[in-house]
Amino acid sequence: MIKTKKRGQLYVVSGPSGCGKDTIVQELLKRKDNIWLSISCTSRLPRPKEKNGVDYFFKTVEEFEEDIKNDEFLEYAKFADNYYGTPKKSIDNHLNNGEDVILVIEIQGALKIKELLPDTLFIFILPPSMKELKRRLEGRGTETKEKIDKRFLRAYEEINEVNKYNYVVVNDEVKNAVEKVEAILLSEKCRVDRIEELDVFLQSS
Ligand code: ADP
Ligand code: 5GP
Repeated sequence: MIKTKKRGQLYVVSGPSGCGKDTIVQELLKRKDNIWLSISCTSRLPRPKEKNGVDYFFKTVEEFEEDIKNDEFLEYAKFADNYYGTPKKSIDNHLNNGEDVILVIEIQGALKIKELLPDTLFIFILPPSMKELKRRLEGRGTETKEKIDKRFLRAYEEINEVNKYNYVVVNDEVKNAVEKVEAILLSEKCRVDRIEELDVFLQSS
């Protein structure tokens, strides 16, 4: 008998800073129900428009390290001199309720998730070119030149890890990129080991 899964699916979206991950995921969430975006913790200072509990849970380094000690994170990593981590709590609840969960995290964290939860689907977002990545990082206007340079250099290393992901989406136009991510999520739903309609069909046959 073919078994189907009722648990939600975990998706990880990564890509170099400034490639457009957050832009794509925010647009995706407007279009799709039944998908929950995990809010990470960070020791980075909030950007002018960011809100605590909406964009991140902002913590001091001491608070973050206390959380590490208390085993509060599914994964955490240091990126550009700050801590970032995925809170364990609530992810399992959402998945058990059959809701899909999306994590927008950098590469080191994604690779930890791959070890812990190999059933996860990994999507890598690429900028159309390094020149455009630099333009987007500068255009966002959220980091100093020194921090932009650091993130930009790190991007070369990150892009080397692309073959560890299941899918890659080039973010040329936001609309195109969102459509591709949606198509990836939809095809995942049609996999024989995931499709829920199969259960209904088998029971009615
Ligand atoms: P990330 O979350 O990967 O760090 P953001 O979503 O913050 O990146 O996007 C970085 C900057 O690039 C933002 O100013 C955003 O508006 C812009 N941006 C995102 N996608 C595109 C795109 N397809 N074309 C042009 N600009 C984009
Ligand atoms: P930013 O400072 O631009 O918000 O984020 C920097 C990087 O950290 C981005 O690549 C972002 O996706 C990543 N990030 C955000 N939250 C987490 C997290 O919980 N864990 C890890 N490993 N990376 C994260």
